[in-house]
Amino acid sequence: MREPRQYSARVITRMSELFVRTLRQDPADAEVPSHRWLVRAGYIRRAAPGIYSWLPLGYRVLRNVERIVREEMNAIGAQEVHFPALLPKEPYEASGRWTEYGEAVFRLRDRKGAEYLLGPTHEEMFTLLVKDMYSSYKDLPLSLYQIQTKYRDEARPRAGLLRGREFVMKDSYSFDIDDEGLAKSYATHRDAYIKIFNRLGFEYVIVHAMSGAMGGSASEEFLAIAENGEDTFVRSPGGYAANVEAVRITPPAPLPYDDAPRAHVEDTPDTPTIETLVNLANARLPRPDRPWQAADTLKNVVLMITEVDGSRHPLVIGVPGDRELDLRRLAAQLEPAEPEPFSDEDFAARPELVKGYLGPVRFDSSGERAAAVLGEESITKIRYLVDPRVVSGTRWVTGANEPGRHVFDLTCGRDFTPDGIIEAAEIREGDPAPDGSGPLTLARGIEMGHIFQLGRKYAEALGLKVLDQNGKLVTVTMGSYGVGISRAVAAVAEGTCDDKGLCWPPELAPFDVHVLAAGKDDLVTTAAADLSVRLDEAGVSVLLDDRTVSPGVKFADSEIMGMPTIVVVGRGLSDGVIEVRDRRSGEQIEVAVEDALGAILAAVHGPTRLG
Ligand code: ATP
Ligand code: MG
Repeated sequence: MREPRQYSARVITRMSELFVRTLRQDPADAEVPSHRWLVRAGYIRRAAPGIYSWLPLGYRVLRNVERIVREEMNAIGAQEVHFPALLPKEPYEASGRWTEYGEAVFRLRDRKGAEYLLGPTHEEMFTLLVKDMYSSYKDLPLSLYQIQTKYRDEARPRAGLLRGREFVMKDSYSFDIDDEGLAKSYATHRDAYIKIFNRLGFEYVIVHAMSGAMGGSASEEFLAIAENGEDTFVRSPGGYAANVEAVRITPPAPLPYDDAPRAHVEDTPDTPTIETLVNLANARLPRPDRPWQAADTLKNVVLMITEVDGSRHPLVIGVPGDRELDLRRLAAQLEPAEPEPFSDEDFAARPELVKGYLGPVRFDSSGERAAAVLGEESITKIRYLVDPRVVSGTRWVTGANEPGRHVFDLTCGRDFTPDGIIEAAEIREGDPAPDGSGPLTLARGIEMGHIFQLGRKYAEALGLKVLDQNGKLVTVTMGSYGVGISRAVAAVAEGTCDDKGLCWPPELAPFDVHVLAAGKDDLVTTAAADLSVRLDEAGVSVLLDDRTVSPGVKFADSEIMGMPTIVVVGRGLSDGVIEVRDRRSGEQIEVAVEDALGAILAAVHGPTRLG
């Protein structure tokens, strides 16, 4: 049997008094079902883009998520603290994140002109607090957490609570004396996260992840599987799972090129795209062994990169022509710098970059290699990164840096030398898993939690050292672990709602039971109120719909609001029966009034709910 909720009130919550209005219309800005229903059911209200107020029903769900997270964090011995959201600039300057976070940080000044920020995440503050209080290996390991409001000026706040500019996060931090300790703290947190997400009741995957602006090494994300998710992840039958941002493909072995044919420039008029190029090559320059394919071409995409200090420079990325550049994968590799497509003005300002015919090498009129156009050693000084498939000895058809001309058999390592490799080409369904565990499938998800082995980045930047057994000062190693609390409310709503409304899993529902007094006469209202009191006394939280509106309105509202069990006290009462409905399955049974309490308790507590 479940523990009664911390909320199980002695006073029955009555719809006639509850601060709520359900809406018959979808809000205009709702992009996804969870957002639509949370607003329509009166759980949240928008205050500004990406900023929401919590109404009583929504706040109860939020607190239920917090309770689950708190219980599991306490269970691993993490201690709860609470930091301010309004933070001084200096620690973030010391770590470099004052600039790295760029426009995502809300910055403000006090009356004396001192600079502050609204915390987007709190690594610096935790590091400094521990530095302030602890000085010995005997004080470690230590895990601290908080449930705190975070602020990020997201470029695209969307989908209601899913991507807010103000949101609630649980963030915890582990402090260890050595790598072994960190690995242990990480594993402990990982187990706690598994328990948390199992209890929250959504389908999730644990995937390899990029560590982004946090820095650090090992990192995994917990993604709720959801069509509307912003993240794409891959899985293989052999158990490999990764966010596409973090996939590292296995590069082919380099090839010898001693016998490779010389590079030769060919006229390829009107071939600005890969498709037109491949068609022309097959028509006019057929290969003896097989037709030309898009994968034989090297597509060079030029981007404008903005560094954190605001400086801008072009970057060219070469990928096999059968693959698109994946902008999310690219952005994840370049973070905190930001890529943008090269605009027409950018091309106009760099006439040496011939749109549609860009390649790493320029040739003279006799077709001899004249100069490098891309890369450190080039005449343009533009950085040139290529897909890991572009290994030494691979031969390509690519732009010759003149309109209507391409070069064939341009050989990597012989004719051109990229500055490095970058994982920015799209990952496709059926691509091999990097660990050889089979073909990849792609799906979408919502990032619910993220765990990192931060290592010593913050401890070093902020001087968190303790004395070890030998009396020597050593830098502490840290982990950082986040759960999106408010995002979880939306993610659970998203995963459980149906075409009638919200449909909460029991552990998160604002109330266990929604009792509808579906009739006007006193018998009905008295019986409904009576039953509600008895349920409440039995430790079940009850929402009583005692309003003077029609039963139809009450039914519809109860479906929108989504309590797991709906009890209808109405017409059947004259025959001595009431109705118990399961919101999720729609299953309903009639029970005799005298058996009602037992039947409802069984529905609320039972694993199979009704029946
Ligand atoms: P995302 O990639 O979705 O922007 P993130 O990687 O920047 O998220 P973290 O810094 O890892 O986020 O934060 C920890 C958790 O906080 C995330 O796993 C997510 O559940 C939640 N979170 C992050 N940003 C938001 C947001 N804008 N709104 C709601 N929840 C968020
Ligand atoms: Mg993350």
